[in-house]
Amino acid sequence: MNPKIEKLIKLFAKLPRVGARGGQRIALALLQDKTGRGTALANAIVDAVENIAPCPCCGVLTDRGIGTCEFCRDASRQNGQLCVVRDLSDVWTLEKSSVFHGRYHIIGGLLSGASGVLPQDLNISTLPSRINDEKITEVIFALPNTVEGKTTQHYVMSVIGDTANVNFTELASGVPLGGDLDYIDDGTLSLAFGGRKSL
Ligand SMILES: [Zn+2]
Repeated sequence: MNPKIEKLIKLFAKLPRVGARGGQRIALALLQDKTGRGTALANAIVDAVENIAPCPCCGVLTDRGIGTCEFCRDASRQNGQLCVVRDLSDVWTLEKSSVFHGRYHIIGGLLSGASGVLPQDLNISTLPSRINDEKITEVIFALPNTVEGKTTQHYVMSVIGDTANVNFTELASGVPLGGDLDYIDDGTLSLAFGGRKSL
């Protein structure tokens, strides 16, 4: 096989849920396309990768160098609620369901002995000052209902500790055990959010 094509297939194959066969199909489709889609895709990737960075406040991916993200700039979202999630896809899920209109904090992973994720790998050190500065009164945990999710939740609570007078809540049952927020339908998510329990 031509080394340029082989390289392209290998790069696509490493993407989430693509694999070797998918990588071949994508590479072939782009190379045979006559409409310039390959170049447009390459330019869009370079543009996004170079110009998007995590919001320094909450971790949501946003335009690099403009300060905080749209959620942190939106004054109507400063309602005292802060939702702690694992990654940006959880924010997208919650936004799609319109159940929440506060601020987010993306911690960027879950503590795990098996995969070697340690507290210093997570975006949590700024949480106490955020809670203070943004007058947060409720920290809502929307982490996966797994051992790692619960361990991480307890750790985050201990980091926030007695720094402020905040209530801790978590989503009610309805979030499937071992499940990610991605797989929950809007109705279930809305129920889980509405029936959240104090910790
Ligand atoms: Zn932000």
